[in-house]
Amino acid sequence: PFSPDELKRAVDRALERRFLALETKSLREEKDRMEANFITMVSHQMRSPLAAVRQLMEVAATEALGPLPADYHDIVSRAARRMDELLQSIGAWLNMSQIEAKGVAERMEKAEVKPFIDLLTKRVEIEAMAAGQYLRVEHPEGGGAATIEADLASLMDALYNIASNAVKYNRVGGEVRIVWRADDYQVDVEISDQGPGIPEVELPYLFDDFFRSRKPELRAKPGTGLGLAIARRVVKAHGGEIAVRTKADEGTTFIISLPR
Ligand code: ADP
Repeated sequence: PFSPDELKRAVDRALERRFLALETKSLREEKDRMEANFITMVSHQMRSPLAAVRQLMEVAATEALGPLPADYHDIVSRAARRMDELLQSIGAWLNMSQIEAKGVAERMEKAEVKPFIDLLTKRVEIEAMAAGQYLRVEHPEGGGAATIEADLASLMDALYNIASNAVKYNRVGGEVRIVWRADDYQVDVEISDQGPGIPEVELPYLFDDFFRSRKPELRAKPGTGLGLAIARRVVKAHGGEIAVRTKADEGTTFIISLPR
């Protein structure tokens, strides 16, 4: 039992701690906001001149301005490819900061799940085909009318990121499987590959900004390490979550659950 004095001191201490915690939290939020604004600003400023340079390179690589010395075409094309990588990263940063700045609430639209998954499949099919992989899609029986309310463009990007990872990191000739199901409360989308799996030590960092595997054969594939980070932000902004099941040399499954 506290004496009134002790009680007052304890309450004061607790209030002070609470106040400090709140202050730290709002400072951190302020810092996050500033960072997001900064990224948006810099990306916007960089994007148009870089895109213009990229186009000029295209012209420079042709013979439109007269005959070119040997190797010239090769060098300009390589520069253009590096520029494409940079533009892709800038696109991803913009995407990420916009998700943070605005949130998805104002872009919510209702759509049927089946055609949405069909559209996702169409987008990944081309990559799967180019990589010599089989893409299997399974719609649930009687799931034809299931709907979802979402920021459809962002959600499509998030699922596409995960599905194109499945193709990118799959084993040669492997299969990619997209399965979904819905009940009254949620929609689950499962995207599986038959790739090398994700090492357990890397799982805690998988969704961090810029995380890429330490494994040389995975690092060798092009990427920014932002795809999953953005995908998780989008899914979280919808009140959903992403789970991962993975087994060495057997494959990886990402399970995206969204509330309806
Ligand atoms: P990126 O693919 O651009 O590197 P992501 O954020 O999409 O970035 O993925 C982060 C990392 O997670 C990848 O570099 C890779 O190491 C690992 N990863 C993602 N998906 C898979 C997968 N299906 N199989 C194995 N590793 C994966």
